[in-house]
This record gives sequence, C-alpha cells and structure tokens, in this order.
Amino acid sequence: MKRVLVVEDEEAIREFEVINLQRSGYDVVDTDNGESALELFDRYNRDFDLAVLDIMLPGIDGMKVCKELRKRSDTIGIILLTAKTQEMDKISGLMLGADDYITKPFSPSELVARVDALYRRVALNIMRSNNKFNEEIKFGEFVLNLKNRALKKRGRVIELTQVEFQIMEYFFSNPSTVLSRTQILEHVWGSGKQGEEKIVDVNIRRLRMKIEDNPSVPQHIITVWGMGYKWEN
Ligand code: CA
Repeated sequence: MKRVLVVEDEEAIREFEVINLQRSGYDVVDTDNGESALELFDRYNRDFDLAVLDIMLPGIDGMKVCKELRKRSDTIGIILLTAKTQEMDKISGLMLGADDYITKPFSPSELVARVDALYRRVALNIMRSNNKFNEEIKFGEFVLNLKNRALKKRGRVIELTQVEFQIMEYFFSNPSTVLSRTQILEHVWGSGKQGEEKIVDVNIRRLRMKIEDNPSVPQHIITVWGMGYKWEN
C-alpha cells in the first residue's frame, strides 16, 4: 500500500492530483487545508509514505504543515508545490524538512515522476530498516547506520532527513572524492532536476549545521571551488 496525503485548497488542482496519483496506484487521502491534514495524518496512525503539500493554503500554510509532519515522522517523503514567484519559499521549505518541490503549473507526468521517485527512496529506506542486517559505515568520529538511517558523531545521534541521509551515504561511499553538485543532484533526486543544483547547496548547508563543529569553517564537507563537494575526515 502506497499512501499519499494531498493538501491543496484549489479544488481543480487537487482533483487533478488525486486522479493522477490514483491512476498510478497510490491510495490518496486529500484535504483542502492544513489543520485537517494534520488531523488526518494522526487519524491514519501516521501511516503515510508521502505528502504533497501546496504552500499557499488558508489557515496553516504548507510550510507549517511540512514542519509539523517532519516532527511527527522522519520517514515520510514530503513534496512542496510552489508557484514560480515563490523562489524563497522553496529554499525555506527545504530547510524545514521537505525532500523535493514541484513548480506550478505541472503536468501529470511530472507530478507522477516526482512522486514515484520519492516513493522509491522512502520504500528503500523502509525496506532497509525492516531488514535484519545492521550495516554501519564508520569514518573517524562518525558512524552511519544504514539500517536505521542514524548518524552518530562521537556517540551522539544526529537526526537526518531522507535526503540528508542519502547525501551522507553518497559521501561515505566516496570518501575524499570530489562529487559535483550535478552528480549529487542526480544521485539523490534522480534525473529531471537539471539546473536545480541550488537545492544541493541548501542541503549541504543544512548538513553542515548538523555535523560540523563550526559550520562556517567546515572540516568534513569541503567545498572544492568550481567542482563540487567532498567528504574528508
Ligand atoms: Ca493554494
């Protein structure tokens, strides 16, 4: 069962999302406002794989819903819907724990492609956490647990979103290797995001806040000017 929560106040757009996601095999729960979205999330025992949230909503807006959902679930995949003019909303939305965004207007195939891509990531992580193996990657004072997606630094747990975990796993699989922003973008978000390298930078900034002793003088996630980023111990 692939269950997605759709929050959109414009009825025509909401129906468009519901129909297209249902056609693609999703069990869709939809609502036109943020308050009932949070209620529904709890009423279904938080049993959602994904949420597609419009940012501009009456009452609690999509950003706030995103923040609340992320508080209640580390594993849910969250996609924000944004108008072209809301450039800053994209960035701050990602900072609040969204995994991806879609710019309005969007086609059915774009919607379904993005939702499918994020679902695959979420499902992979759930499969991993249900698996018996408990593989860890250790680097200096860091331990990345691939089973429960936990990162520890000097024994202290650092909470990661899906996207942050995937970036860390990519770094840990390629230590001391320069990874371009485009490579990171494609590895984590899949194809179809060309030109959106800025979201890599946003997530790197957020990761540095979490893992670096001094985020403005990073010792681990190093910027290689004109090339990308690399992981160093
Ligand atoms: Ca709206």
